[in-house]
Amino acid sequence: SDVGSQKERVVTEEEWLQKWEMGNIGFHKEEGHPLLQKYLDVLLNGRSGLRIFFPLCGKAVEMKWLADMGHSVVGVEVSEQAVKDFFSEHSLPYCEEPVPEISGAKMFQSTSGNISLYCCSIYDLSSSIVGKFDGVWDRGALVAVNPCDRQRYASLMINLVEKNSSYLLVTVSYDPNKHKGPPFYVPESEIKSLFG
Ligand code: SAH
Repeated sequence: SDVGSQKERVVTEEEWLQKWEMGNIGFHKEEGHPLLQKYLDVLLNGRSGLRIFFPLCGKAVEMKWLADMGHSVVGVEVSEQAVKDFFSEHSLPYCEEPVPEISGAKMFQSTSGNISLYCCSIYDLSSSIVGKFDGVWDRGALVAVNPCDRQRYASLMINLVEKNSSYLLVTVSYDPNKHKGPPFYVPESEIKSLFG
């Protein structure tokens, strides 16, 4: 679990925007993630009409899946292109409006109202702006956060969830000396200390 070589690495927002512009988005999975299907029952726990949060959402197709099941989906993503691509690739009409509490931020909402994507940095959000969530799908999110921001990210996420929420976290296990990331290698011991 030597993560020394990744500890100092920083990927800027500008670099993420460039990845989207260049179509350098190998992390996007058109067919959706098999682990969400596998653990859907853990996330939902028999409940319906949940509020589900997608941190660092990209244009994850799982947002459409959960919305189609009757849940209310909220995502946050720095790339406006990703957000617009999401709606257009699913032929979902949407409207866009500024977020008064966050300068420069916009919220894109499906006309049906059940998918709201905030275009801003996740660090600009708080529960007073987006409320609290019953479930979280964290894939390509904790592992995409810069190692130096992990503590801040985890504290924010803990703040954004209800007491009886379920949090599905996908990480990747590999030798961090062989790849610089993202996705970064987050050891299980660190996950335990971040989330308790
Ligand atoms: N969860 C998605 C995308 C993973 S890639 C999926 O499963 O496909 C990580 C995404 O986070 C990228 O789209 C990047 O643009 C976005 N991102 C990076 N830093 C961010 C930040 N601080 N706030 C919000 N989004 C961010």
